[in-house]
Amino acid sequence: MEKPVTLGIGVIGTGNIGTYHVDRIASRLSGAAVTAVFDVATERAREVAESVGAATRDQDLDVIHDPGVDAVVVASPGHLHADQVLACIEAGKPVMCEKPLATTTSDALKVVEAEVAAGRQLVQVGFMRRYDQGYRQVKEALDSGSIGEALVIHAVHRNPSVPESFREFMAITDSVVHEIDTSRWLLGEEIVAVTVRSGKRSPHALAKDPQLVHFETESGVLVDVESFVNCQYGYDVRCELVGSEGYAVLENPMLSASVTSGGRRTTVPADWRERFDSAYGAELQAWIDGVTTGRYDGASAWDGYAATAVADAGVRALEEGRTVAVDLVDKPSFYAGR
Ligand code: NAP
Repeated sequence: MEKPVTLGIGVIGTGNIGTYHVDRIASRLSGAAVTAVFDVATERAREVAESVGAATRDQDLDVIHDPGVDAVVVASPGHLHADQVLACIEAGKPVMCEKPLATTTSDALKVVEAEVAAGRQLVQVGFMRRYDQGYRQVKEALDSGSIGEALVIHAVHRNPSVPESFREFMAITDSVVHEIDTSRWLLGEEIVAVTVRSGKRSPHALAKDPQLVHFETESGVLVDVESFVNCQYGYDVRCELVGSEGYAVLENPMLSASVTSGGRRTTVPADWRERFDSAYGAELQAWIDGVTTGRYDGASAWDGYAATAVADAGVRALEEGRTVAVDLVDKPSFYAGR
């Protein structure tokens, strides 16, 4: 019997999501093992590495060039992603980069150009909602033709709270960036303009919150996103896609319900981990399988670039109080069908 291939995975960044991915690869996924990790927080990196029998390395490039590392997960802070992904491409190693691919559109474009020059797909970006069953059902409803042509998307993205270090532009770059990706992916078209409005501020917020973010797509589909990062009560993500013949809707899942005399009490997911746990697992397993087969179905470097460009336009729209057009380069033929 053929022995199953075990890929060696290197992980850069062992904070919240890096550790979450390491634990999952070690205990719940197949075909891969974490072999090397790096984090500037060396003690945390050592603990995480020890927990799964991996080695620690002294810097990110040591992970990327480690002969025991076949593929890399980048889970460091966003401003480091582009350079770390470029180093993976240069080393010819597949990389799953947590969102965002880059914090500037020009850096994201450098990644796209490097991958095109490499001539094979090496980059997947961590937009895990594409693997969520609910979002997939909304997409299937549209793709099947049953709800007709897409006309409008209404989306809600609420987080219970954010740390004091959170700045108002981050509602777009860190939070709404997921709606940017899901809108592009559901509709199969680019976003061409962004407007952001804010009104009465939540008493729990240090910056403008909530914000209403509007996108317009190439064919004229209108998308509205309520971004509210201090909603207090839980994590709440919803999406309604309105078509010419009907609509498809993603509700916030009710995780449990209890009924007692005179009432029914249901629960709301506490945070992104609870809400999207199975999507993160499916995303990572699909990427591991993709590294083996060379076929990926997640968000590509182009998707990461387009999302960054829309987020950049959104930040300008927020700062300047006007609608800002999204300026994308022509899509390289390399990304046709990816
Ligand atoms: P985090 O908890 O701050 O973890 C990042 C880790 O990287 C920290 O331990 C940080 O150390 C470390 N680090 C700093 N400089 C580094 C370097 N040069 N090389 C390697 N590691 C370095 O942040 P997080 O919440 O895990 O987020 C990490 C990334 O994942 C962000 O881009 C975030 O947007 C993304 N993310 C995505 C999702 C999703 O839904 N897909 C969810 C959560 C996070 P220090 O703390 O000492 O700086």
